[in-house]
Amino acid sequence: MTVKENGTGENRNGKRAKRPLELSTRLAGYILKKKLKGRGKFPLVTMLEPLEMCNLACIGCGRIREYKPVLDKMMPVDEALAAVRESGAPIVSIAGGEPTIHPRIDEIINTLIEEKYFVYCCTNGLLLERIMDKIPPSKYLCWVVHLDGMEEKHDESVDREGVFTKAVDAIQSALDHGYRVCTNSTVFRTSDIADLSEMFRMVADMGVEGSMISPGFDFEDAPDQDMFLTRNESHSLFQQLLDPENSEGAIFYNNPLYLNFLKGEREYQCTAWSNPTYTVMGWRKPCYPLADEHVEHVKELFDQDIWDKYGVGKNPRCGNCMMHCGFESATIFTAVKTPKDWVTLIKAGSAHKGGITAA
Ligand code: SF4
Ligand code: SF4
Repeated sequence: MTVKENGTGENRNGKRAKRPLELSTRLAGYILKKKLKGRGKFPLVTMLEPLEMCNLACIGCGRIREYKPVLDKMMPVDEALAAVRESGAPIVSIAGGEPTIHPRIDEIINTLIEEKYFVYCCTNGLLLERIMDKIPPSKYLCWVVHLDGMEEKHDESVDREGVFTKAVDAIQSALDHGYRVCTNSTVFRTSDIADLSEMFRMVADMGVEGSMISPGFDFEDAPDQDMFLTRNESHSLFQQLLDPENSEGAIFYNNPLYLNFLKGEREYQCTAWSNPTYTVMGWRKPCYPLADEHVEHVKELFDQDIWDKYGVGKNPRCGNCMMHCGFESATIFTAVKTPKDWVTLIKAGSAHKGGITAA
């Protein structure tokens, strides 16, 4: 592992990469336009899963188990681009599976960048070095590297030794090459607060834009169901994790209203229709965590009939869900109607964040 120990949080150009202002202004303009047209439900972030295969088998991952019969399926480039354009959201979060395994991921990402979508590519970091040769840095691209703790905890979470070291090396290399980089951490009952806090400080010192956090969703296909937090347990864990003493030196990418929600200080109803997820089997219906069916067109995800049946208090499977895709987006939609909350988001420079990452 070759982490620079300068503690400045700066890359080799002497700068911490920053989220571009254009992201906030574009998203604000996009929301305003949709509202003026009277659209109640519309996408903020397209979640694109161009494959479900992975080079890891993390213990909390539902995807590699749910899509076992189609793990070898690679989404054609045209189909991936068509899904993003059909959704029309200005932000695209690419996940899977491990996106860097897709043999034509560079074509997908480079085309989306050319078309000025803001792309967040979620990766475990193992193949990042290889793929960086084919995708130049851009303000429209941010690598989001999965880290669930320091070495012992992360390697335990991904069920393989040595992955932490490779992921941290990949982060350092991406920063040195001038890419925007974030990290993404899923929090489980087995997570250790001191260990996570140390990791958040370490990556902030390295110069990442920020760390995204959320509790893991209790995917019914995951082998160990005891690892997932209940809603009340999540509140208590995030209260400790986000306590100023524990979070000193960390930089969180999530917006402050979502962090308050994680601590149980605010309640929101899920707005997961704003993060439609396109997979090798079509659009997941109703949402990123649940796929009771797959449908052909994104517009099939916006019917009120669906959202009468899903969300907190409406469906038992939603009871413990606090994921970005449902609730960070909800903070944005609620803030649009609440000037005080909107000011909070603008001040934090995070009015753009609509639940970008997978978990
Ligand atoms: S959580 Fe991500 S890295 Fe881990 S097995 Fe699933 S897709 Fe792969
Ligand atoms: S709360 Fe929302 S995002 Fe979570 S499982 Fe239910 S519908 Fe999906």
